[in-house]
Amino acid sequence: MQRRGMVLVTGGSRGIGAATVRLAAEAGFGVVFTYVSREDAARALVADLVQRGHRAHCIEADVGEPDHIDRLMSSLPQDMGPLVGLVNNAGLTGPLGAFVDTSLETMRRVTAVNVIGTMLLSRYVVAAWLAAGTHGSIVNVSSIAATLGAPGEYVHYAATKGAVESFTIGLAKELAATGIRVNAVSPGTTLTDIHATAGEPGRPQRVASRIPMQRVARPQEIAEAIVWLLEDKASYVTGSVLKVAGGS
Ligand code: NAP
Repeated sequence: MQRRGMVLVTGGSRGIGAATVRLAAEAGFGVVFTYVSREDAARALVADLVQRGHRAHCIEADVGEPDHIDRLMSSLPQDMGPLVGLVNNAGLTGPLGAFVDTSLETMRRVTAVNVIGTMLLSRYVVAAWLAAGTHGSIVNVSSIAATLGAPGEYVHYAATKGAVESFTIGLAKELAATGIRVNAVSPGTTLTDIHATAGEPGRPQRVASRIPMQRVARPQEIAEAIVWLLEDKASYVTGSVLKVAGGS
């Protein structure tokens, strides 16, 4: 297997992030990923990958806290080769409900993690690549909610993902001539814990019938698109928002 440089995945301990960590490690990347609370899940994933001969490392860091991002970027391992990819995956919705009931605290927290965290990490990584005269690939994880608006569920969350998509398009154009690529994957409803955290564990089953394919996604189906965008196979792709949403 080809040994590649290092990829940083935020929120890699569970869900879409964990599937991305697995696929990226299996593709030969050294993978560093963050978690916030589930150290058990993060360490179990690292142990499984290392035991199978892959390179993986986890770091606790809340991407909604700028000082955590500073600490994360200064504690990246030195033995996994140069950083060649960033996956801004960590994200949250806040509680499901009508927009009129959404608290300021929820709006601030969801924006801090989904938007500011994505921007700060991207700025760090782009600055490092430009200073070194190298390049790499950034993949931002958006949501089909950016297109659909998520009425009655989490309009504020959909708006943060709209911001992620605009950020992706603009940054990609700004950097295109440097060889740095910036893309987004926009998943449809996927079987992860995010729905239980939002207050409705059965949400995937409830919404499946309104998806053209009549089913929700498995995390690996989203991760396949993310890892493809990281790789040189996607060398002419930048500024794209790839919907992986069963036809939605
Ligand atoms: P998930 O199952 O809830 O997992 C979230 C992951 O992110 C966990 O590893 C969690 O760490 C980590 N995390 C949460 N907040 C964080 C923070 N502030 N800083 C760093 N890491 C943090 O989520 P998911 O469903 O896989 O979602 C991943 C991404 O896909 C998100 O951006 C989400 O908006 C997007 N998305 C999901 C769906 C879906 O239906 N699942 C659909 C469209 C888009 P711990 O394990 O330590 O808690």
